[in-house]
Amino acid sequence: MLDTLHSIVSAVNKAPGLQEALSLLVVGVKDAIACDVCSIYLLDENARANVLMATIGLDPDAVGKVRLPMGRGLVGLVTERAEPVNVADAGAHPRYFRVTDTGETRFRGFLGVPIIQNRRVLGVLVVRQLQTRKFQDEEVSFLFTLAAQLAGAITYARASGELNAMTGGEEPLHRFFSGQAGYAGVAIGTAVVAYPASDLESVPDRQAEDPDGECERVRRAVREVGKDLRTLQARVGEQLPSEDRALFDALLLMLESESLLQQTEEAIRSGLWAPAALRNTISSHAQIFDAMEDTYLRERASDVRDLGRRLLTHLEHDQPQEMSFPDDTILVGEDISAMQIAEVPPGQLVGIVSAAGSGSSHAAILARAMGIPAVMGVSEMPVGRIQGRHLVVDAYRGRVYVDPTPAVCAEYRRLLEEERALGFEVEALRGLPSETTDGHQVPLYLNTGLVNEMRSEEQAEAEGVGLYRTEVPFMVRDRFPGEETQIQNYRRVLENFAPRPVTLRTLDVGGDKDLPYFPVSEQNPFLGWRGVRISLQHPEIFLTQIRAMLRADIGLGNLQIMLPMITSVGEVDELRILIERAHDELLEEGYPVSMPSLGVMIEVPSAVYQIEELSRRVDFVSIGSNDLTQYLLAVDRNNPRVADLYDELHPAVLRALNMAVEGARRFNRPVSLCGEMAGNPLATILLVGMGVDVLSMSVGSLLRVKWVVRSISRSRARHLLSVALRMEEASQVRQLMKKSLEEMGLGGLIRPGK
Ligand code: PEP
Ligand code: MG
Repeated sequence: MLDTLHSIVSAVNKAPGLQEALSLLVVGVKDAIACDVCSIYLLDENARANVLMATIGLDPDAVGKVRLPMGRGLVGLVTERAEPVNVADAGAHPRYFRVTDTGETRFRGFLGVPIIQNRRVLGVLVVRQLQTRKFQDEEVSFLFTLAAQLAGAITYARASGELNAMTGGEEPLHRFFSGQAGYAGVAIGTAVVAYPASDLESVPDRQAEDPDGECERVRRAVREVGKDLRTLQARVGEQLPSEDRALFDALLLMLESESLLQQTEEAIRSGLWAPAALRNTISSHAQIFDAMEDTYLRERASDVRDLGRRLLTHLEHDQPQEMSFPDDTILVGEDISAMQIAEVPPGQLVGIVSAAGSGSSHAAILARAMGIPAVMGVSEMPVGRIQGRHLVVDAYRGRVYVDPTPAVCAEYRRLLEEERALGFEVEALRGLPSETTDGHQVPLYLNTGLVNEMRSEEQAEAEGVGLYRTEVPFMVRDRFPGEETQIQNYRRVLENFAPRPVTLRTLDVGGDKDLPYFPVSEQNPFLGWRGVRISLQHPEIFLTQIRAMLRADIGLGNLQIMLPMITSVGEVDELRILIERAHDELLEEGYPVSMPSLGVMIEVPSAVYQIEELSRRVDFVSIGSNDLTQYLLAVDRNNPRVADLYDELHPAVLRALNMAVEGARRFNRPVSLCGEMAGNPLATILLVGMGVDVLSMSVGSLLRVKWVVRSISRSRARHLLSVALRMEEASQVRQLMKKSLEEMGLGGLIRPGK
């Protein structure tokens, strides 16, 4: 049965469209489990009915016509329960519902298995038998495996409109994939799928231009990987127990098996380029192992995937693929990285769509810095099938439309025009002071880590740098940068902004920010070794960085140093001693350095509760609302599955912020806020009401936030804050702030259009 599963899966994977995939699947299943009928029903939610989409054994003319109402019959029961229904004699079941136009009444044995994606039932896979028949457990799990395979293809067909065309359902108003807003805006353009090197899962579909050449590339890669494996085997062989040594033989067997090569070559001959053909072969091989009950055999799935990655690395190596980017590129990927964003030539990137991540992950932060509309965490999107598609990105609502209808396109073109007009209005605020209508100054600072990429008029707009993420220049190297290299980096930003203050944050790696040359692998990275925890255990890294900062500041005097991830006062005391040591040593060495002001980030709940003890020890505090929200609400800021729980307008977050601001004020310490919340127009009024002294944000948000500041009085902001602080749910706060912005004529900042 495994071989059969394998061949059905691979045939289905190769099918050009959903209808072909369904037809192949029903035929394959009927043969595999020797039943009389196999049918697939898909749920039409608008019509509240299961529509017969493919069958073998029933009247083929009934396809597309038979619509079983939800809530009736055994197929309806599978949909309601989202569980298999397996009955030996369907007619005897109380939920049996007679459908005469398919010729189905003759059949007695019934097994229906739901097709599910993300807890949502998409349809039902049914097998029938003329005689009474209770299907076996392994037959149920066989259908389950196939149903899971189908689910992805159905989700895609649903979002792309293919499914609607097939079911003859009404054109839905909204056909889109959903995610989280990364940077608000609208984009219309062409999808370019970016995939990380050797990440097989996210290799996109492309046409093979020279199938013979592509087949030869695969054969060469197989030979090369074989050589690598043999070398590895010889090198580690003697240190391994014999059962582990056998692993290499097993891998070699798999690698050199006829089926792997044959299947890949077949896929190439059917039109796919080598990497995508390899992806299909590897995933169908791995899925067979995934479905096994024996844990040892199940583990072999990861060996297969590992082989796939090795092959892909060789494929890429022998012929690096130059990506080409149209002028209206919308970059799409499983987990878009900063490097991938940077690869698109300036001016050609109009939007970003990432299947993983959330509004506060670092790719979103970069998108904001560049002012590019971005939607993150679009987890249902089949990235591999999006290459070259026409997309509309509505990053206000976190929506991505694939090949949208002309009506949707026209509407978004109109909104884009309005956005441009709004952009001109916002542009007119350039150079004006950021002050409330009753004359309170709310200086706006910049968050950066990529100062070179900012235009000078953008730099001129900010009154300082509130957060320079020093890890960014660390991340784009292949080793720790030395003191001199760091000096050049810091000097550039300090000089660019002098005499305006520049806040350099000490290295904040760990969590979701890895250095390729300093891997930290942990079960729970956000609760692990990150920020100053690493600095305290590696004082040599910290001291080098501080020395570089102090030396870069010589003759300028606008440096401020900020410590991330502080959880206890002891950390500040220890790090201050190190900073003083670096300062004294530099003086002894003859450098005329001065002590900069020192601040801590408030981004962990313990720091909020110890705000007074911390304020006493430093010159300023800066609230990192990204991490503070994550730790207060216990929601991973990058996990799309819980992204809807991550909300900086949550009343608990607002109360914590208010407490931190009040605590710091008691010691006359200025408070800034440098998380993404500072750039969110929905939060501006609340932060002004709290009396946050400085808002520090990505460059793309500066003018939008300034517009809000200049449209409200401090006293009105205080009143709205007091109302919000009494609310119980984030949704109520959001409503209140949306309404307030609309009333102030600023609705265009938070939704498409003007
Ligand atoms: C924060 O946590 O709010 C912050 C500004 O730091 P980062 O986003 O770099 O973790
Ligand atoms: Mg942080």
